[in-house]
Parts: sequence; C-alpha cells; structure tokens
Amino acid sequence: MPADRTEDTIAAISTPPGSGGIGIIRISGAQALAILQRLFQPHDRGCRFRSHHLHYGHIVQPGADRILDEVLAVYMPAPRTYTREDVVEIHCHGSYLLLSRILELILAAGARLADPGEFTKRAFLNGRIDLTRAEAVIDILAAKTRKGIDQAQAQLAGALYQRIEAIRQGLMQMKAYIEVAIDFPDEDAEIVDLGGLQQILEQQVAQPLQRLIASADQGRILRDGISVVIAGVPNVGKSSLLNALLQEERALVTAIPGTTRDSIEEYLDIEGIPVRIIDTAGIRDHAEEVEELGIKRAKVLLQQADLVLFMVDGSRDLSEADLRLHRLVAAKPLIVVINKADLCQDGVRDFAAQGITGAAVWISARRQTGIEDLRRAIFAAVVGGRDQWQEDGCAPNLRHRQALLRAEAAGNRIAESLAAGSSCDLIAVDIQECLEQLGEIVGLTTADDILDVIFTQFCLGK
Ligand code: GDP
Ligand code: ZN
Repeated sequence: MPADRTEDTIAAISTPPGSGGIGIIRISGAQALAILQRLFQPHDRGCRFRSHHLHYGHIVQPGADRILDEVLAVYMPAPRTYTREDVVEIHCHGSYLLLSRILELILAAGARLADPGEFTKRAFLNGRIDLTRAEAVIDILAAKTRKGIDQAQAQLAGALYQRIEAIRQGLMQMKAYIEVAIDFPDEDAEIVDLGGLQQILEQQVAQPLQRLIASADQGRILRDGISVVIAGVPNVGKSSLLNALLQEERALVTAIPGTTRDSIEEYLDIEGIPVRIIDTAGIRDHAEEVEELGIKRAKVLLQQADLVLFMVDGSRDLSEADLRLHRLVAAKPLIVVINKADLCQDGVRDFAAQGITGAAVWISARRQTGIEDLRRAIFAAVVGGRDQWQEDGCAPNLRHRQALLRAEAAGNRIAESLAAGSSCDLIAVDIQECLEQLGEIVGLTTADDILDVIFTQFCLGK
C-alpha cells in the first residue's frame, strides 16, 4: 500500500526557471512551519511568526551555520491559505541555482517535491475551490490575450460554477418531486405536477444547458486561438500586410517559444482572440532547395487554417495564377483582401465579375489603410456578429462541453419521459445521470484518472 501522499508536506519553486529579481519557494502541509524554523534565522532573534506577515532574515544551512541567502519568509497557517493547509513561502533572490539549493535543504528537512499542479489539487481536494476554478488557474497561466485572462478570472471567481450549480438546483427540485411520487405511487396523479416539472426542466435545465454548450465554441477560440493563413501570389503584398497587422497591435504572446524574428508566423490579438497568422510565401522562402516540399507544406497549412485571407493586387487584373490559387482555397472560410488601394484612385476593378466573390476588404498595406476594417472582418468571420460574443465569463472548455452534451442528452430523455407519461423510476434515473454529468464538471463526481490528467497540465510549483 503506498502511503497517503496527501498527508505529505510538499515543496516546490513557484517562480519560473531562469533568473529574476525574486524567486519564491512554496511549502504546504503540516510540517511547513517546522521546516521553516530549521532553515530560517529571523533578523530579530526569538521573534514568533505572525500569521500572514513577512519576516526578514536569512536561510542558514543547518549544522554548517552558513548563510545561503537573505530572504523574506511568510507563514500562513491553515485554513486561510491557497491549499487550506499550513503554507510557507520563502522569497529569495531569483537565481535558479540558489533556489534549487534552498529547495534541497527543504526536501532534506522532510518535505517532498510537489507534483505539477499539486498545490492547486490540494486546494480542490480540501474543498477551497471546485474543479472549474482549479482549471481557471491553468487558463490564467496559459492565457494568450487580455480577454483570455478576463474570462479565466471570471471562471476563477465562480462564474461557470454558479451556472452549473443553478442547473443542479433545478434538477434537485425535480428529483425531490419525483421521489415523493415514487414513495407514494398510488397518489401519482395528484402529487406529480407534470406541467410544473416540464417547466423546471425547460427553464432551469434545458435552456441554460443549451446556452452553455453554445458558448463552448467561444471558450475554444479564446483558449486555443485560431489560425489564419495569408494566401496570394508573389508581390500582392502578403509580407506588407503581416507587418501592418503587427504594427497595429502586437499580441502579448510574442514570448511564445519558437516565434523567432524571421518566423513566418506571428501572433495577433484581434478583439481578444489569439490569432496565429501565417504568411505562406515565407514557407517557400525558407525551403528554397526543396521548392516542392514548401508548396506541400503551404497546402497543408491552408487545409488546417480556420480562415484564409486570399490576397490580390487591386491595381491590376487577376492573373491565371491568382485564379488557380483561388480555386485551391475557395472551399475554405475566406476573406478576399484587395491590396494596393492607394494605386486605385481612378476607380476600382470588379473582381466579382472575374470570379472572386465573397466578403472583400480593400486595404493598402503600405499606407496602412483598411487594416482596422480587416481586423473587424476577421473577428466577424470567426465569431459571427459582436452580439454573439458573450461577455459573462462562461466559456466552457472541451471537457466541460462533453459533459454538458451528455447532460443535455439526459435532459432530452427526461422531457420525452414526461411527455410520454413514463414511470417515475425511469425519470429518476435520467435526473441522476444529468446531475452526475454536471457533477463531473465541478468536480463532485470526477474520476481520479481525469483529475490526474487535469492537474498534470499545470507547471511545477502551482
Ligand atoms: P508578397 O510577395 O506578397 O509578400 O508582397 P510584399 O509584401 O513583399 O510586397 C510586394 C511589393 O508590393 C513591395 O514592393 C511592396 O512595397 C508593394 N506593396 C505592398 N503593399 C502595397 C500597397 O498597399 N500599396 C502599394 N503601392 N504597394 C504595395
Ligand atoms: Zn512576402
């Protein structure tokens, strides 16, 4: 039998690897204070740790009497802490080597190295946060735009949890009615208010479920972003457009690994949506020797794109090459971008007559005109109208969506049973199923292996 790991006192470096002004080590569990007292020498000797107060002092290697660092330490007794256990934080100088050394002392003093996400998992297991709030912590750390952070903060504040809870309340109410009917079968007719049950089901369960399922798309877009490919024959102005979009507003995600200066893909923040934008020409440039390979990759990227910006030069007629490329992308969600508007003062060409139809935006990449219109068109192509973009902080993730769909299916079965006058036992089974699916979302009935998958998405120290 493995020991109960939830009883261990755990420790980890909570700041990212590398060097910085400050690095923080976090300890959680019953031994946290004892470990701190072994390693930490407060400036005013003999001081007693005041709860939730920073104390100035030194980390000293036990036995060797050697000062390792000048630090601030805070002791936070349970339950008013992140994990609801006793928590200690040591704020050291932000050298990863130094932090590792202090962490080793802490481990030698009796703590165990925390698993990724284990602090947050304890917060969940100890009942401080539900599962949607724990997942919001992952979302905050991974958010690619300000809007992504806003939505994650709303979820952390309980926006999604409350919506699920409200649906669960409706189901509990139904369950109570049905159970009375099961207990007093002879009085079925008087006790079960069919119309009342149908109304609760519709208004408090089915409709809210539908709304949540509808907003899951938004959640996916906010979390994962979308990929947009600029396609066009050489010299229509693809690189110029990429530059113009980037000058407008650089996303807060430029630090994503792999986006180097000569990269052909960049990240944009378009009204809060993280957009990965790819210039297909760049692919060819970077694979000169293997031209064929470059074209193949371009085709794959085009296939995978959520949206294609099909670019033409507005100052000249379409060429055979333009039309051929258009045929390649015509089946994709598409915005026609007509560039070099500045060269078209004396009237614009009718591209629709030449077979290029659909939403078109005139721009001048060089003069930076029409770029704002293009951004709006990209947003609209992805989200639909602005009114379809909900701002209430409920953006279920894929895991939530799957459970919501199963809950919806159970809800549909309840509706059918009510309409058909089926037995109360049958209805009770589906109510229970619906409750359990919602319970999975907030963590009431979530299987251990699923919890493991969720918490291993965290970085170390969180
Ligand atoms: P790409 O091959 O599609 O990436 O095209 P580039 O962005 O390299 O642009 C090709 C040429 O068109 C360059 O000389 C640009 O300066 C020029 N160009 C790009 N956009 C505009 C525009 O809006 N107006 C004008 N007049 N020239 C442009
Ligand atoms: Zn280019």
